[in-house]
Amino acid sequence: MNIAPSSMPDTNSSALAAAWRQSLAAAGPDAAQVLASLADDHAAALAAHFYKVMMNDARASRSMSHDQVRVRLQPAMQRWVRDLLQADDGNVEQLIANQRVIGDVHARVGIPVDLVTRGTRVLKQRLFQLIGEQAGHGETAHTAIASLTASFDIALEGMTLAYSNARERSSRTDAAYRLFSLVQNVSTERERQRALLLDWENTLLYALAAQADLSSFKSLARSEFGLWFNHKGIPSFGESSETVQISSLIREVDQLLQHTLQQDSAPAERSIQLQEVRSKVSQVRTLLGMLFERIGELDAGCDALTNLLNRRFLPTVLRREIELAEKSSGSFGVLLLDLDHFKTINDEHGHEAGDRALQHVAGILSQFTRGSDYVFRYGGEEFVVVLVAVDERQALVIADGLCRRIAETPVTLADGQLLAVSASIGVALYDGHPDYERVMARADAAMYQAKKQGRNRIVLGHDTLPDAPGRAALRRD
Ligand code: GH3
Ligand code: MG
Ligand code: MG
Repeated sequence: MNIAPSSMPDTNSSALAAAWRQSLAAAGPDAAQVLASLADDHAAALAAHFYKVMMNDARASRSMSHDQVRVRLQPAMQRWVRDLLQADDGNVEQLIANQRVIGDVHARVGIPVDLVTRGTRVLKQRLFQLIGEQAGHGETAHTAIASLTASFDIALEGMTLAYSNARERSSRTDAAYRLFSLVQNVSTERERQRALLLDWENTLLYALAAQADLSSFKSLARSEFGLWFNHKGIPSFGESSETVQISSLIREVDQLLQHTLQQDSAPAERSIQLQEVRSKVSQVRTLLGMLFERIGELDAGCDALTNLLNRRFLPTVLRREIELAEKSSGSFGVLLLDLDHFKTINDEHGHEAGDRALQHVAGILSQFTRGSDYVFRYGGEEFVVVLVAVDERQALVIADGLCRRIAETPVTLADGQLLAVSASIGVALYDGHPDYERVMARADAAMYQAKKQGRNRIVLGHDTLPDAPGRAALRRD
């Protein structure tokens, strides 16, 4: 059910395909022949060379240290070199789509663009030498070099396009997640902060009206609102012109209070200054409203029906768990649950009963996992649980417990009727692979097996299970 969004054709891909076709046409058959025979004779050596150069970089060796990467990388690299050198008019669209998938993988794993650029530079240099050895330095060699350069550059452009789109998307969700975790309940927080700001202002007005001594009066910056804004508001909203303006308004208000109101100024003067304070506080209120409104526009972090985490935060959570697991040499588990025969529940008892069943299962999942685990609504009647810091045995025990509890606890429908539900659960353990799609694909394949084996059970995912339908595209490299 997960298709890599950047691999879909769009105007950027079409422009690249047109440029590629043009360069192939300009190269002509002789140059194409030189490149094609280089691919046949040297793809393996080029891939080995590339790998050797890359492993000298600590950032690359970190993400390439995993066995699977090692086993897959060299053949994948050979295929990549061969594809580029043997590109023809009929397959450039497909090749560009492939580059975009690669760019997506790089983004998920966190392979920096400069490393990829270096990799292609190293390969190009070696290929230039080989062209010289094979075709000399005449017209054909020159044309072959031009064509090769265009192919590599276009491939790199396709990859980078996908990479930057994916990074942009993920940094947006990372930011949204940060915001979401800091300001869990936007509307409550908004009302709370409004009230605190108003409290502060009223206390000030009251103190002034009562001619009270203001020396112990809390500045706006030290008020409960001010502290919240500085510590949580700014990091939550992110630096923006509004947050900068609010900070300076708070400063100005405090200066006015300190320098003027506390001194013995004439009542008329005091009243003007007080107006000024109130007008600044009112500006703070307006700006704050705008900031909160903007968060409201980011759709909520929780799924409305089940109150579980929204699946768009899953990549953020998995990336962080992979980072933590790498640092601590630990592991984590992923459970993919799909409720059994859910269509029948809807058909026989109505959609509302179905919704109730979803809430009921969501409740079980939240109640019987630890506070440190993450429970997501993944799709219609699918859930994902990320079990942090568990090994295979623990993950299986938890999965089994959840599966039993779901099957043993019927849902009470609106009319009091009891309805049994069950779930099929795919279990997958982080195995050191830096791409979180792998662990998800294994959980998906395992869940699919659990369905095939009769439902209401758990299955542990491993690499030899066949891909779940719809996942195959992600495992091509
Ligand atoms: P199985 O998974 O055991 O193979 O069978 P299934 O009937 O659950 O199969 P499938 O995944 O194809 O059907 C899922 C159904 O879940 C389809 C859809 O009508 C229902 N569904 C999805 N989202 C919701 C929802 O939010 N509320 C309700 N009531 N039903 C939903
Ligand atoms: Mg389903
Ligand atoms: Mg189902």
